[in-house]
Parts: sequence; structure tokens; C-alpha cells
Amino acid sequence: MDPMKTYDLIVIGTGPGGYPAAIRGAQLGLRVLAVEAAEVGGVCLNVGCIPTKALLHAAETLHHLKVAEGFGLKAKPELDLKKLGAWRDGVVKKLTGGVAGLLKGNKVELLRGFARFRGPKEIEVNGEAYGAKSLIIATGSEPMPLKGFPFGEDVWDSTRALRVEEGIPKRLLVIGGGAVGLELGQIYHRLGSEVTLIEYMPEILPAGDRETAALLRKALEKEGLKARTGTKAVGYEKKQDGLHVLLEAAQGGSQEEIVVDKILVAVGRRPRTEGLGLEKAGVKVDERGFIQVNARMETSAPGVYAIGDVARPPLLAHKAMKEGLVAAENAAGKNALFDFQVPSVVYTGPEWAGVGLTEEEAEKAGYKVKVGKFPFSASGRALTLGGAEGLVKVVGDAETDLLLGVFMVGPQAGELIAEATLALEMGATVSDLGLTIHPHPTLSEGLMEAAEALHKQAIHILNR
Ligand SMILES: Cc1cc2nc3c(=O)[nH]c(=O)nc-3n(C[C@H](O)[C@H](O)[C@H](O)COP(=O)(O)OP(=O)(O)OC[C@H]3O[C@@H](n4cnc5c(N)ncnc54)[C@H](O)[C@@H]3O)c2cc1C
Repeated sequence: MDPMKTYDLIVIGTGPGGYPAAIRGAQLGLRVLAVEAAEVGGVCLNVGCIPTKALLHAAETLHHLKVAEGFGLKAKPELDLKKLGAWRDGVVKKLTGGVAGLLKGNKVELLRGFARFRGPKEIEVNGEAYGAKSLIIATGSEPMPLKGFPFGEDVWDSTRALRVEEGIPKRLLVIGGGAVGLELGQIYHRLGSEVTLIEYMPEILPAGDRETAALLRKALEKEGLKARTGTKAVGYEKKQDGLHVLLEAAQGGSQEEIVVDKILVAVGRRPRTEGLGLEKAGVKVDERGFIQVNARMETSAPGVYAIGDVARPPLLAHKAMKEGLVAAENAAGKNALFDFQVPSVVYTGPEWAGVGLTEEEAEKAGYKVKVGKFPFSASGRALTLGGAEGLVKVVGDAETDLLLGVFMVGPQAGELIAEATLALEMGATVSDLGLTIHPHPTLSEGLMEAAEALHKQAIHILNR
């Protein structure tokens, strides 16, 4: 082995956690090495956020043509799946190429290979040793397998499900009612599959606000996607006419069989630490396999940080990005803390988005909770766009008027939630949100009106 090459900072992984960390480190004057075992850009750019959003957009465009019949636009659309796949790949390539360019432009050295710890501040890649004062672990996550449903030709993970060009199954079972299951389920439904989605918990999106999650489920069901909550999949058998899947009530008891052509398992993801040699670095993991970190993103080993999916939930790209910046700033001698509101979005049509405390969480935390709601059916802008489903729900503290949380289902919810996130970061009151002039007609007025509704003074609905 050659003498060890040394850096100020080594970042392992170039997903949404790793590449911003590497860039911020370089901006702060550190000599940075980024190591990537697979594709630059990680899960989000290659097999996560970006390709699913591209497919959702294509599926939505197709769906809008049906809606457009209502205002006289008649078309007989035909979707070329090969072309769709190529367009999706083009979007991914453009973005991952962009990230590689940004790393290079910031003078981050990019090394292709799998990194393993040799000691507290040393890694080995392709048989060579590399050392640094600080290391950031950003190795991400992988699909969680489900007992009774080993991944294979008939049982897909999310990565396989993205390859629509290989055919749309006539009948698809989606196991898991989280963001990934809902988004991929809707893509397949809109591209022509008969989709059944099952969720073990009593409602889809079990971590979010129940009322808006139920509204999203109803909207998906109205479109024809079958959603079954409080249900689990026990196992399956392949027969001539398809895959016979045994379903059972979550509490046990009643059983039934459904027959499908493919199964998508989307029950969650698990942190990726296998083969990393964390024990050699003195980095501890918790019982679920996540690397333990504090608010500075420091692990149990001094100078070693962990960020993104490998560190802790929620498993979201924007959370990983900010954690990357915090870790890099601390590696450069600053004192940065992760103390941020993390919004989450489901990019179905209609979209679901939420940030802050749900009603139940706020009550548990001891607030005297007040809620204001505004339905998109009363939004002029939503009507002009042909989609008036959903509502905005604002959760506030009755005593101080402090804004505590915002949840919504409706068009562009993912864009609208950024304003709510800023409001929470600024310590806005519900009145602040109501006093802000929102352009008319826009969907964003729904936020202002929901805030006004909390004080029983919304204008475009009756305040009861
Ligand atoms: C289908 C799907 C859709 C999603 N959509 C969204 C969305 O719309 N919005 C959102 O916020 N989140 C979304 N996510 C989640 C998002 O992709 C993750 O939260 C995000 O990618 C986490 O970033 P990360 O940097 O922690 O890890 P990853 O993106 O997993 O990147 C880790 C990188 O590290 C590399 N690596 C691992 N081990 C080593 C090693 N030992 N040596 C060198 N390199 C290594 C891997 O090859 C990988 O490139 C989605 C996920 C999926 C699966």
C-alpha cells in the first residue's frame, strides 16, 4: 500500500447529504475528498426523488387530458413508454452530471469506489488508504425487505418499479401506504394498472395528520385506486393466473386472497452501514441500525459525523442536505446545530404536505389547540385549474396565537408548504399568516384563509 493520502475532510457517499457537505466543506476552505461506490447523486437523483417525480408528471399530464375533456379538449393520447423511460433517464443524467460538475468546480476530489474504515480517521478504497481530520458518513439507505415477499422478478422494490418501459402489469399490489407506495401506486394506476394498495396502520401516511391523509386516500380511491388500511400481507403463492396473495386484518382474524401480476414492496428503508467497518472507527449504531448522532451531527467517534438516511429519520432529501451543511461547518471549526422544521411532501395528484405539529402532537405537548381550515373547493384559483380537491389546515395555540403546524392536501401543496415552514422558523403567529397579503387568485390564498378561519373570520367560507 502506498503512503496514505490525507485531506481535511473525507465525505463517504455523494447523495443529497454527501454532495452538499463536500461542497460546503470546500467553500469553507477545506481540502475535500468525496468517495462514491455507485452513481453520483445517490438515491434521490438516480432512483428516488427525481425519477419518481418525472414519472408522476408524465402520469399527471395524461390524467389532466381526461380532466380537460370537461372544458372541451378532446384528445386520444398514446404514451410511448420507451420514450418516457428515456426522458426520465435524461433528466437524471442532466442532474447527476450537474452535481459532478459542481463537485469539480468546487475543487472537491471525487473518488469512485467503496469506502471502508481502517481506523478512527482512516479509510480504504480500492486497496488504497486515505486519511482526514474529519469524516462525514453519508452512505444512505436501501429498501427494507418484507418477510414472505423476497425481492425478485415478481416482487419489486422501488428501483425496479421505476422501469415502466419494461411493461405495466395488469394488476399491481402495493404494500405500504407511505410516500413511496402512494406515488408509485398512482403512477401505475394512471398508466393503466389496476392498483390495490395496502397499509397496516388504520390510515395511510400514519406519521402525518390523519384528516388530510384520509382526504388524500379518498381522492386516490375516487380515481379508482383501491386502498385498504388496517390490512397486512402475509405471503403469496405463484399460480398460473398470477400471484395469489394472502391478506389479513392487521389485528389478525379475517383473511382473504387477492390475485395480482406484480407486487411492489414499499414498507420503508433501512440505513446502509454493511461492510463500512464502523466498529474500527468507534462509531456506534442504535438498535435499528441508524448511526447515533447529536445535534451537531457528531457520532460517538470524535471528528466523525453522520448525516442523512444513515443517521436518522425522517428519510428525506432536504433533511439530509441541511444535515450535510451542519456537519461540514462543524468539520471546519464552526458551531452549527440542526434545529430546523422539516416539511414533508407526497407528490401524488393531489399532493399532500405537512410541517410542524399535528393536532394530536400539539395537544400532547400541552398546547390549547385551535384549528382553522380552508377547502380548495372555495378557492377561485383551484377552480380555474380544474382541480378543487383538498384543504389547508392550520394548527395554532389558542393562548399565544403561535402557529404550530400546517397540513394540506391539494394542488401544489409541496410548493405551498415552504411558506408555512418559513412561518414556523420565524415564530409567526396565526395572525401573521392571515395579515400577509397573498396574491389573488393563487392557491397560496388557502393558507391565509385557513389562518383567518382559525379566528372565525375567513371571507370566502362561512365561519361556523
Ligand atoms: C422512490 C423514492 C422516492 C423518493 N422521493 C423523495 C422525495 O420526493 N423527496 C425527498 O425528500 N426524499 C425522497 N426520497 C428519499 C431520498 O431519496 C433520501 O432521503 C435521500 O436520498 C437520502 O440521502 P443520503 O445522502 O442520506 O443517502 P443516499 O441518497 O442513499 O446516498 C448515499 C450514497 O452513498 C453511497 N455509498 C454507500 N455506501 C458507500 C461506501 N461504503 N462507500 C462509498 N459510497 C457509498 C451510495 O452509493 C449512495 O450514492 C425518495 C426515496 C425513494 C426510494
